[in-house]
Formats: sequence, C-alpha cells, structure tokens
Amino acid sequence: AKESGRNNYQLYTHAMNQSALHRLSLENRLCKAAENEELIIYYQPQVSLELGRVVGVEALLRWRHPEEGLLPPSKFIPLAEETGLIVPIGYWLLRKACSQNQEWFKMGLPPLRLGINLSAHQFKQQGFINSLRDILAETELDPSSLDLELTESIVMEDVDENIDKMRQLRDMGINLSIDDFGTGYSSLSYLKCLPINVLKIHQSFVRDITTNPNDFAIAMSIITLAHSLNLKVIAEGVETMEQMELLRSSGCDEMQGYLFNKPIPPEELEIVVNNNNCF
Ligand code: C2E
Ligand code: CA
Ligand code: CA
Repeated sequence: AKESGRNNYQLYTHAMNQSALHRLSLENRLCKAAENEELIIYYQPQVSLELGRVVGVEALLRWRHPEEGLLPPSKFIPLAEETGLIVPIGYWLLRKACSQNQEWFKMGLPPLRLGINLSAHQFKQQGFINSLRDILAETELDPSSLDLELTESIVMEDVDENIDKMRQLRDMGINLSIDDFGTGYSSLSYLKCLPINVLKIHQSFVRDITTNPNDFAIAMSIITLAHSLNLKVIAEGVETMEQMELLRSSGCDEMQGYLFNKPIPPEELEIVVNNNNCF
C-alpha cells in the first residue's frame, strides 16, 4: 500500500508539473503572441431581420499557436485575464479591429457596427477612456460604429462608478451592449438607468427555445423588457430556421449564429458582406 501510495504521488506531481509547465509555456508565448502575429481576429456577422442584411460584426479573438493549432478564447483568455495580459491584448485588438473596420468602409462596404468584448480589467483601467479616444482618432473610426460589449458582472461591480464611465462613452457617441444578458446578476432597477443601447440574449436561452417553454418565455420577456426600455435586442447562437422564425415573430431585432455564419477571417467577411449571402 505504501509503495502504490508513493507511485500515486509521483504520478500526481508529474501530472502537476506537466500542466504547470504547459501553463508557463503558454504564458511565455502569449506575451509575444500579438507582436509575433499569432493573434488573429475573426468576425461574426450580425444580421438585421428588418433590413435583411449584415449590419454588424462581433470581433472574436483566436490564437494561431505554432504547435497547438488555432486556439479558441476558452483556451487562453482565462490565462490572459489572470496574468493581466488581457489589457495589452485588448488594446491591440481594439486598434486592429477599428482600423480593419475603417478599411472596410473605405473599400466601399456598407457601414458595419463593430462589436468588441471588453474585459473587466480593461474597462476598470484608469486611462481606458483616453486610450480609446486615441485609438478612435488614430484609426479615424466613427465612434458610432463602435459597440462595446460589457457583461452584467462587469457593470454591476461598482455600479455607480461604472455608470459614470458608461455615460462618458455614450457622450463620445459609442454604443454599449450588455452581453449574455440574463446569465448574470443585474438588478432591474439599475437596468433602467444604464446608458446602454442593446441587450444580447445569451445562447443558452436560444438553444432550446423551440422545445422548452421556459426558455421561450425568458427570451420573450427579455425582448419585451428591452423594447419597453427603448433598447435593441440581438439573439446569439441562432443555429436553426425554427429558432430564427420564432425569434423573428417575437420581435427580436438582430441575430447572430451559425445559421448565418460562424466567426470568419476578415477576407471571408468581405465576401459575405459583398454578396450579402448570409441568408
Ligand atoms: P461571447 O462574447 O458570448 O461570444 C459568442 C461566442 O458564441 C463565440 O465563441 C462564438 O463563436 C459563439 N457562437 C456564435 N454563434 C454560435 C452558434 O450559433 N452556436 C454556438 N454553439 N456558438 C456560437 P468564441 O469565439 O469561442 O468566444 C468565446 C468567448 O470568449 C466570447 O463569448 C467572449 O466572452 C470571449 N472573447 C472572445 N474574444 C474576446 C476578446 O477579444 N476579448 C475578450 N475580453 N473576450 C473575448
Ligand atoms: Ca460578446
Ligand atoms: Ca455573448
């Protein structure tokens, strides 16, 4: 018993070392990933049902790791958050996506609203508003083309201070969305004072919307709530025609999901928007 106990221990520390080493090597690489051009931005179209065309895109980060292939955010964003690397990465992404959007506009593509996911770290930074102002000036992007996505947890932490910051962003002409609405904790009494434009319905409510009456009820309530507060609604994770039809008949304004397009590299997005072949 003693023998096997020791073996288990060795096995355990070996596994621990492996994962600690892996983490360390990821961390080292992630530091230089942006300058090594390993970070890339995919764009997922957002479709207006009323207009029948792509009206916006959401920028979604990918890491082209030399050994491990194309990594989704779930494989490295948590590490980036823990180490604080999310801040420089976030600014890199903001600058890159804004200039990409401006380039599309100059190419003659119809104006696209650019959705950017903000991390709590970045939003909380003292100099965030000034840095954002610099990036907008530098890239010449119209602030009304920018849509910053915040989660309920980011907003509700220090809510008074955050509302103040959000007002400044709105005064600059920037749009604000609440991402994954309904999955976090937000008080309805605050919702009415938040200077936001859009609620995004999380895909967990959309997934079973055609079969689960509770999910349907929740999605409907979010749409009604949003409209009565003069906000738009974007549903995420729309994968089937049935989901689309149900959301459309419930008054949902915009949709995003595999039914239309997966997140795609910028060259592909140009083709999709030019041909408007998302339907
Ligand atoms: P999110 O902001 O909720 O992004 C939507 C996620 O849903 C994306 O996953 C997208 O690929 C996925 N998705 C879109 N349509 C469908 C669908 O029809 N079905 C299914 N099953 N999934 C769909 P992705 O790209 O893996 O991103 C995951 C999360 O990582 C994002 O969730 C966001 O929270 C975070 N993230 C991505 N890029 C950034 C970034 O630049 N900065 C920060 N701070 N977070 C980011
Ligand atoms: Ca998002
Ligand atoms: Ca979301």
